[in-house]
Amino acid sequence: MDFSVSPRMVDVVARIRAFFESDIVPLEKELVARHSFRALLPELAAGREKVKALGLWAPQLPVAWGGMGLRLTEHARVSEELGRSPLGHYLFNCQAPDAGNMEILMEFGDDGQKERFLKPLAAGKIRSCFSMTEPDLPGSNPTWLATKAVLDGDHWVVDGHKWFTSSAEGAAFAIVMAVTEPDAPPHARASQIIVPTDTPGFRIVRNIAVMGEPGDDYGSHAEVMYEGCRVPRENLLGPRGGGFFVAQERLGPGRIHHAMRWIGIAERAFDLMCRRAATREIAPGKKLAHKQIIQGWIAECRAKIDAARLYVLHTAWRIENEGAHASRDGISAIKFFCADVLTEVLDRAIQVHGALGLTDDTVLAWFYRHERAAHIYDGADEVHKVSLAKRILRGYGVDA
Ligand SMILES: Cc1cc2nc3c(=O)[nH]c(=O)nc-3n(C[C@H](O)[C@H](O)[C@H](O)COP(=O)(O)OP(=O)(O)OC[C@H]3O[C@@H](n4cnc5c(N)ncnc54)[C@H](O)[C@@H]3O)c2cc1C
Repeated sequence: MDFSVSPRMVDVVARIRAFFESDIVPLEKELVARHSFRALLPELAAGREKVKALGLWAPQLPVAWGGMGLRLTEHARVSEELGRSPLGHYLFNCQAPDAGNMEILMEFGDDGQKERFLKPLAAGKIRSCFSMTEPDLPGSNPTWLATKAVLDGDHWVVDGHKWFTSSAEGAAFAIVMAVTEPDAPPHARASQIIVPTDTPGFRIVRNIAVMGEPGDDYGSHAEVMYEGCRVPRENLLGPRGGGFFVAQERLGPGRIHHAMRWIGIAERAFDLMCRRAATREIAPGKKLAHKQIIQGWIAECRAKIDAARLYVLHTAWRIENEGAHASRDGISAIKFFCADVLTEVLDRAIQVHGALGLTDDTVLAWFYRHERAAHIYDGADEVHKVSLAKRILRGYGVDA
């Protein structure tokens, strides 16, 4: 097995690290202190222009769409680097949910949809959101949706109630999962429909505070009403009734992006933990680093982060070489495995910082508040565990 990194990726990572220190860290301090994404929009726009000038824009997109054209295994490494800050992915235009939406539009969008929605998204001129989860039905069983879209002449009329539509505030359009074929089998009932947010009937009820963070602009999670939203029938994205098929397609690469972002966060927390242990004196001449219990945490965290990274990279390699279907065990397993590593390392790092770890004087508390959700979004951990175990048990003749 060859674990080496290509010279191109060594160079890309080095340039991202330099930009991280010079530009991202100062902006991140502002974000954490002010608790507002919107307040930083002018600086973020300037930062995005710098990223473009550095030739590091949209690493996951093909060159034809203005990106770097990296392979999945290569972008995985970039995603880790960018994950070390809450602003990294946004500055490079590979942030969720836009990255997934770009992927769907590239694969399933027609020429008109690509021109109107993908082109400005790829250029960073607009943002988007993905609207599937509903407050009154379990997101863990996404085939069960109340939101409907009915064809009326040349228009789809969308009615429904969604929540946790991340980044809806300020987004130019939503990709909405809605039932269009109510009589079809569960997995063929829903379709994806593009709803521009200036469509009459699209209404943000509120941004939902998460762990006390009110959220705004890109950094928000909205409750949204779709009340008789009429959009042209050409806004159907992918085949009728193909909503879940399309969603599945974005799942594999999207999971790699998320998991590597989490590893980046864990690396950042690990670095802060070690720095603190190496400098904090708990008695004259005695540092936290001298305590075996802290040494044990450092060693365990190191091993867990490295194991998680290898697992994700191997899964990314399998997706590239064998396809998403053949890699589905890894795609399930890295979700809960990396989420566990992420929250454990964050928790240890906060503990080592003592009271300081709970303040906004470091980025740790920000990550802790925002990333507890890692066990819930992108499919609750338990759902992935159950589906992995069922596949394993099938090999033992048990249909669980
Ligand atoms: C920060 C954040 C951002 C999000 N962004 C988006 C977004 O942009 N767009 C969007 O559409 N949605 C988004 N979501 C919603 C997310 O996808 C759902 O929260 C998730 O699918 C879980 O659905 P639920 O909250 O309805 O929980 P439920 O489905 O009610 O599940 C509750 C709990 O039950 C357990 N559980 C569920 N199923 C099983 C099972 N089969 N076996 C055992 N235990 C089980 C799990 O522990 C789960 O956490 C976001 C959520 C969060 C927290």
